[in-house]
Amino acid sequence: MQDLHGRTVDYLRLSVTDRCNFRCRYCMPPSGILKRDQRDILSLEELEEIASACVRCGIKKIRLTGGEPLVRRGIVDLCRRIRRIPGLQELCLTTNGSLLPQLAAPLREAGVDRVNISLDTLRPDRFAHMTRLGDLSDVVSGVEAAEAAGFHNLKFDTVLIGGFNDDEIEDFVSLTRDHPWEVRFIELMPMGPCAGWNRRCFLPGDTVLKRISTLQKIPPSGVAQRYQLPGAMGTVGLIAPVNHDFCSQCRRIRVTADGKLKGCLHSAEELPLRGLHGKELEDAIRRGILQKPQRHHLAERRSDTPRNMNQIGG
Ligand code: SAM
Ligand code: SF4
Repeated sequence: MQDLHGRTVDYLRLSVTDRCNFRCRYCMPPSGILKRDQRDILSLEELEEIASACVRCGIKKIRLTGGEPLVRRGIVDLCRRIRRIPGLQELCLTTNGSLLPQLAAPLREAGVDRVNISLDTLRPDRFAHMTRLGDLSDVVSGVEAAEAAGFHNLKFDTVLIGGFNDDEIEDFVSLTRDHPWEVRFIELMPMGPCAGWNRRCFLPGDTVLKRISTLQKIPPSGVAQRYQLPGAMGTVGLIAPVNHDFCSQCRRIRVTADGKLKGCLHSAEELPLRGLHGKELEDAIRRGILQKPQRHHLAERRSDTPRNMNQIGG
């Protein structure tokens, strides 16, 4: 369905947990999050009910996210149940990749269509530093497991951070020569723990084009501008929410793990869905879609959400 600004909204990012087995420095505080009572988080039944109601309101694509979606107990069964919702065209998942060695095959079997893997550095020491708890070798095994399970054309999401990984742009782009992958550079958004970071960390996405002059423009996909090295198997994406906002083309809504519908990642407005069922639930979702905020204010270096990214899902 359309919102009040004429945008078709057909994409739901559904957060299944705010917990994570990493503590990425820009996303989560070092101590992690306050452990909530499990009852504060949507149950698997509630997640399925909300997903189903969203599809009846016009959602065609659902991406499961978190926190780390793969730490949620019952995730494979949830995927199987959501994939069966009549009218859903695509079920995707965004993950840090560390649990894919054990879960890639069951997720594929459960009907997950695509996985995106977040990967900010190709260097083990930097990876350990940025994620605080992660080991790059787990993610590398996860990539292999995903491909073996039949997830081809993987997408990698790389947050571009000045002074941390901008000297790896070339290495990331080179991955696309011999793999049918899309490496997507995402501008760091000033929110949560990184809101007060030095301005030098916030590089414009165009930095990639300045560094790699041989990239050729190809048609965009969703909110990503896309490029390709001549003769490469894969592609390069640029997602620039800060410097080239794509609000006028935004087709997304989000539902947090505690059951709040957000029309915009960066808005403080939230609509509680918990406890609603049937027509009441659908009416609330329709209201949330209609009232989707027109734009965010990241260009003024301001996100209005009080949440950290792990509490929304990216
Ligand atoms: N744990 C999963 C993962 O890392 O892919 C899913 C949740 S994570 C919050 C989703 C995405 O948001 C990741 O690609 C992460 O790098 C990105 N992210 C988190 N904080 C961000 C920020 N401040 N700016 C830009 N991207 C951010
Ligand atoms: Fe966890 Fe993903 Fe946030 Fe990293 S970016 S702390 S993996 S939720």
